[in-house]
Amino acid sequence: MAPELDGARGRARLVDPFGRAISYLRVSVTDRCDFRCVYCMAENMSFLPKAHVLTLEELDRLSSAFVARGVRKLRLTGGEPLVRRGIMTLISSLSRHLQSGTLDELTLTTNGSQLAKYAPEIKACGVQRLNVSLDTLDPEKFRAITRWGSLQQVLAGIDAAQAAGLKIKINAVALKGVNDDEFSRLIDWAHGRGMDLTLIEVMPLGEIGEEGRLDQYLPLSMVRARLAERYTLTDIDYRSGGPARYVRVAETGGRLGFITPLTHNFCESCNRVRVTCTGTLYMCLGQEDAADLRKPLRASESDDPLFAAIDEAIGRKPKGHDFVIDRRHKRPALARHMSVTGG
Ligand code: SAM
Ligand code: SF4
Repeated sequence: MAPELDGARGRARLVDPFGRAISYLRVSVTDRCDFRCVYCMAENMSFLPKAHVLTLEELDRLSSAFVARGVRKLRLTGGEPLVRRGIMTLISSLSRHLQSGTLDELTLTTNGSQLAKYAPEIKACGVQRLNVSLDTLDPEKFRAITRWGSLQQVLAGIDAAQAAGLKIKINAVALKGVNDDEFSRLIDWAHGRGMDLTLIEVMPLGEIGEEGRLDQYLPLSMVRARLAERYTLTDIDYRSGGPARYVRVAETGGRLGFITPLTHNFCESCNRVRVTCTGTLYMCLGQEDAADLRKPLRASESDDPLFAAIDEAIGRKPKGHDFVIDRRHKRPALARHMSVTGG
């Protein structure tokens, strides 16, 4: 069968061996962050040497290669994407694909700390929506979870983003004994401000120091059952392009999403791949298999070796993942941190 062609460029679209078209790329633009969230990083992280990290031009070239091969949605993440020096140059440059119609959406996942500074510029680049990660509305808990973050600064960032006309979705990681008494507060707050809220199950990625994930893990099936005692939750078909399953909360009128990689298998509809800031392509968040795209990127000014490496890697995209957190698996299922692939 002839490969499906992307109308705009005449290049074959990326389709994996299970027939899933790859239309969504997440790009981690830095492994660095101004926070040290307890489930994500150890406090004393060592970061990558600069020479290993792709330059802004290389990140642009790499992302644009995927756009040329049919990726319609691009999400910049990290680490914290907005602490990468010159990040606005990259966002502004990538926005040309929105203008040309080859990209449907350019977006970011951010901890919100720099939004007060960047929100208007981000909006001016054609970005419509942002995901902001926020696990608690309690300043002390916020400090305990992020170790270095300030809740006030993040809330000011959210205010600035909404004032600039950006739509915000809040992502909160559900942490047993930490924010599990706060979900209704978060729902009322987010929905009261016209923002969707998505709860995320903690995933076993990377060594994080003292606190074990067994202690943090809270199945969202339990959270949902508890919330259903207080709210009327109705399953809805809405999809945000990601793995979240949504319900409508009758009392607030807002949407609540659940991302349950451990208790719910969402692999069959997976349309995404991830690239790290060193140009490593991960075909699945839950598997170690990866492809080095930095080498072909740096080897030639032509994109042909890069396209060949991408094709070869997509041909190995696995059917699914196999995360387990239980007493027999005390080590993280994967050694890399979420800040490497950006979630
Ligand atoms: N710094 C940005 C932020 O926090 O939004 C972007 C990168 S961060 C790695 C992306 C998302 O991954 C955040 O929502 C964060 O809460 C989530 N995350 C990090 N480590 C996680 C883990 N072990 N399990 C589940 N979610 C995690
Ligand atoms: Fe930084 Fe985001 Fe990881 Fe928190 S979750 S340490 S904000 S990269």
